[in-house]
Amino acid sequence: MDQTYDLVGCGFGPSNLAIAIAIVERWNSESRERCPIKKVCFIEKHPRFLWHPGMLLPGTTMQISFLKDLVTLRNPSSEFTFLAYLHSNNRLLSFINRGSFFPTRREFADYLAWAAEKVKTLGIEISYGEEVVEIRETCIEGVLQITSSRDGSQITRTTKNLLISPGGSPAIPSAVTHMMDSENILHTSIYAYSIPRLLSQTAAKQRPIRIAVLGGGQSSAEVTIDLYRRLEHLPASDRPHEVDLIIRKGSLKPSDDSPFTNTIFNPEATDLFYEISTANPGARSRLFSEYRNTNYGVVNPETLDTLHELLYEQELSDGIASRSNSGTAENSAPRLRILNNQCLIGASLTEETDQTEGRLSLTLQDTHKRTLAAFGPYDILILGTGYERQIHTKLLSSSELGKKFYRDQTITETDLLNPLTASSTPDSTEASTPTSSSLSLEPGMTSPSPKLLVTRKYRLVPIEPCKSRIYVQGCVESTHGISDTLLSVIGVRAGELVDDLWKDEPDT
Ligand SMILES: Cc1cc2nc3c(=O)[nH]c(=O)nc-3n(C[C@H](O)[C@H](O)[C@H](O)COP(=O)(O)OP(=O)(O)OC[C@H]3O[C@@H](n4cnc5c(N)ncnc54)[C@H](O)[C@@H]3O)c2cc1C
Repeated sequence: MDQTYDLVGCGFGPSNLAIAIAIVERWNSESRERCPIKKVCFIEKHPRFLWHPGMLLPGTTMQISFLKDLVTLRNPSSEFTFLAYLHSNNRLLSFINRGSFFPTRREFADYLAWAAEKVKTLGIEISYGEEVVEIRETCIEGVLQITSSRDGSQITRTTKNLLISPGGSPAIPSAVTHMMDSENILHTSIYAYSIPRLLSQTAAKQRPIRIAVLGGGQSSAEVTIDLYRRLEHLPASDRPHEVDLIIRKGSLKPSDDSPFTNTIFNPEATDLFYEISTANPGARSRLFSEYRNTNYGVVNPETLDTLHELLYEQELSDGIASRSNSGTAENSAPRLRILNNQCLIGASLTEETDQTEGRLSLTLQDTHKRTLAAFGPYDILILGTGYERQIHTKLLSSSELGKKFYRDQTITETDLLNPLTASSTPDSTEASTPTSSSLSLEPGMTSPSPKLLVTRKYRLVPIEPCKSRIYVQGCVESTHGISDTLLSVIGVRAGELVDDLWKDEPDT
């Protein structure tokens, strides 16, 4: 029996889950045996379905309506809608009574896990706990070999088509790249399951804990609030615990999700982004700049209000304490500071002695005055510095196959103005969702990334003939627009991509 898959998917986050749903629905409507794509496997490195587990913080909500789930915009009568999930879990009425379009992040993660389980029962193969490490051509034309690693051993599969949707990987500022093996420095992507142990280790030293959070986007704001709440419950000694939020801008800024602005997340906007670069050189960069504050380096207004309220309470307590001289209880609350107009340019680890209370010293540059100052020592540094979108490039470069798809040249502004240029570059901006790869290159910037050509239907265009089709999702923001890394269009996108996959001759 031919063990070759019709489709292998790298990664099983919401993007590929939406594809799995679109495939299952095709199987239901056309009969699986008659479909060109019958044998499908998704490979996911997490041990089970998990959606951003490091940021599933108590009380955090989705920044997208539940109606923009995996499928509703494409097929509202699907059995995979968020409403169907609520119904099957007997929570439909309670959810309605809740009176909000925005589920908690925890509930949305549970919806995704429910859908992932359901597609599995309908014939989609999912292999968890495996990381795709190499993609290469085989000696059979039109067949690719996918190698993944699981617990140190390698597994190979062959497939006719490949779908790469690996999401982002943490963007680490260059000032701390050399220190990332230190357990005191962590990215927000692993925050929720790393911080309890780190705090209890630090608390065991029985001295005030000092933490720096870097970044002015949604993740940093959420983490700052979460740290405050955790530190409130950790006994302080002679002085309170401290959290410094370090941001480059003059102040935290709100994300714009007002109704007119939100239309940039409509499925039609993908056509606009894709076409505009052909029709009007320079317009794509202007469009990104115009809508940057929907997602990048901004914080949702409710989170801003919560953070502001904490700072206001702190001011009030200080005022009361200084007047009455009896504010001991209030003064034991953690201290929050926002260090604005500051850019991290250096960091060093200090040996812990009786005299030093922390282990991390940060050098910050004032973005206006250009002056340098040392801050700390901190016990913990948390990086809310967003995500890069380069995993697809690394996988494509893992063998000679990449040469069929990318041109080994840097991308310039001129390239950006050409159609079909797809590659994004990290700029460590923080996103409001909070996701963030970076936006496409700003005019004049160059990227060391190879240049890839992608069709409107997300298929990589080979330079030399290649019978296998390779599709990408979540890494083509520069051509397909600001929704590419978000959930806004995933249901519709899955339909477009699967339509293309079903065709004998794909769209060009
Ligand atoms: C905390 C957080 C909250 C967010 N909230 C929202 C929101 O409210 N609204 C919104 O629109 N967007 C939000 N986003 C944006 C987010 O990118 C999307 O929600 C969504 O996760 C994108 O799905 P994806 O499948 O493309 O990527 P991911 O969700 O990142 O999934 C990619 C998967 O691929 C796996 N993978 C990567 N490399 C490999 C490999 N080599 N081998 C095997 N598996 C691999 C990863 O483990 C991961 O499970 C949020 C992002 C974050 C970080």
